[in-house]
Amino acid sequence: MDARQDEFSNPFGMDEQCTNCPDLCETRSTIVHGYGDVGADFVVVGESPSAGADETGIPFTGDDELVYEILAAVGFAKHEPAAEEFDRTEPTVGNVFLTGLTRCHHPERGPTDSEVDSCDAYLSSELRMINPEIIVPVGQRTLEALAFEYTTERAEDLDVEELHATTLRGRGFELIPMLAPDEQSADDTEAFVSHLAEVVGTDYRQTKGRRGSLESGRGPDKD
Ligand code: SF4
Repeated sequence: MDARQDEFSNPFGMDEQCTNCPDLCETRSTIVHGYGDVGADFVVVGESPSAGADETGIPFTGDDELVYEILAAVGFAKHEPAAEEFDRTEPTVGNVFLTGLTRCHHPERGPTDSEVDSCDAYLSSELRMINPEIIVPVGQRTLEALAFEYTTERAEDLDVEELHATTLRGRGFELIPMLAPDEQSADDTEAFVSHLAEVVGTDYRQTKGRRGSLESGRGPDKD
């Protein structure tokens, strides 16, 4: 692991031997803790690591990089999908942190409610320490889980298909729900990039100071 990955990968030093979920301990190769800029305004939360992420140890990498393409489109990641030199094991990001409801891959099913509950302490800690302005829940399950904790909405009333690429007021954070990558059409992706770019272009920060650019290890400068 080089300095860059050392800085971005599991920056809070969370337990890399966690055994809270017996089934997942049998199926995972690695625990995929959060990755990215610990001073970020944006946190992207997936449901559980994909098979690719299970290999790389980094959320949203290894097999489906649509999330990185979206982040690159608004200046939060340096990612050229077609470039041979892109190293999927150490994507460079700024002003964004990537994590999940659960951190261990299962090849045949999504996480159970009990696994999500068991892993919640890690996610809550990351969100508390990062204190982002905006959370992007990826997929219906993640939207429901985060809505329960961070909005006044009833989780069962929220539909990611309806709320994709919109801003939802939350308690302490705003949420911008995203359809799971494998459920997005090209138009859905374009709509999300367009909405996120619009948000990035506004003074979305309520509590934090402004930051420098991705070039200096932070997100885009909007001054
Ligand atoms: S999913 Fe989370 S709580 Fe469960 S074993 Fe993995 S790291 Fe631990």
